[in-house]
Amino acid sequence: MTTSSRSRFKGQKVLITGASQGIGEATALYFAQEGARVALNGRKEDKLLAVRENLPKVPEGDHVIAAGDISKEDDVAALTAKSIQEMGGLDVLVCNAGYQIPSPSEDISLADFEGVMAVNVTGVMLACREALRYWLKEGIKGRIVVNSSVHQLIPKPHYLGYSASKGAVGNIVRTLALEYASRGIRVNAVAPGAIVTPINDSWVKDPQQYEAVSSHIPMKRPGQSEEIAATVGFLAATESSYITGQTLYVDGGLTLYGDFEKNWSS
Ligand code: NAD
Repeated sequence: MTTSSRSRFKGQKVLITGASQGIGEATALYFAQEGARVALNGRKEDKLLAVRENLPKVPEGDHVIAAGDISKEDDVAALTAKSIQEMGGLDVLVCNAGYQIPSPSEDISLADFEGVMAVNVTGVMLACREALRYWLKEGIKGRIVVNSSVHQLIPKPHYLGYSASKGAVGNIVRTLALEYASRGIRVNAVAPGAIVTPINDSWVKDPQQYEAVSSHIPMKRPGQSEEIAATVGFLAATESSYITGQTLYVDGGLTLYGDFEKNWSS
């Protein structure tokens, strides 16, 4: 463990859900490198402890382990309270936890559909609710950044629950942003395209599939978790102080309809 030398979020307290790997882990590293004290959420404490080992230290104290299932109301209340108590407050909430299950839609099981919605939608609602209650009580102008997906916009056949959940996330962000804008609380989303993380190992680790995925992206490469983390940082920082209710697509141009790069229809 090193000590943080940057200071964009010095003295600030940040809770990140789903921080045990992938984009959540990179986001935790980003905020800690910028001087914030972070609370790491995920279901498995041992994985969170391993992530904490690699974070730069901050003078305010240890980064917090806030284990719990983000889809469960009692867990979210407890892990948010623990984060606030141990960090001495909360300034930024990053709702990052999410997952997907593939299935032809005619075969999708209710359990799988509801399971994805429980984490990707209910989990976002529960974490936002706990943070908002605290900020309103304390008069804090907090910021929420939700990790959505390009599939907030682009349909994703065979992943009906995931598509539905990310569409819902877009409207959660817009609704909360409007409801709390006058109290100085900002709510935005980042929408990644194809990013190199453990959930994408199937194509990341196969050179042919990696090329195939890259060929569909206008910038001809997938994104890195650090590129998403930096955008989350921007949406939580004072540089974006007049931005609320927006989804910022970070996708190498994936949402630009790449097939139209060369004119084929007129
Ligand atoms: P990942 O699977 O590597 O990480 C997901 C994290 O969420 C893990 O830490 C996991 O433990 C946690 N998590 C899952 N269910 C949880 C629960 N019930 N309670 C608490 N934590 C839980 O995935 P990732 O690629 O880093 O994705 C992170 C976010 O980014 C997700 O919301 C995902 O939808 C979104 N996203 C990812 C990509 C991509 O290409 N990787 C693209 C678009 C959007």
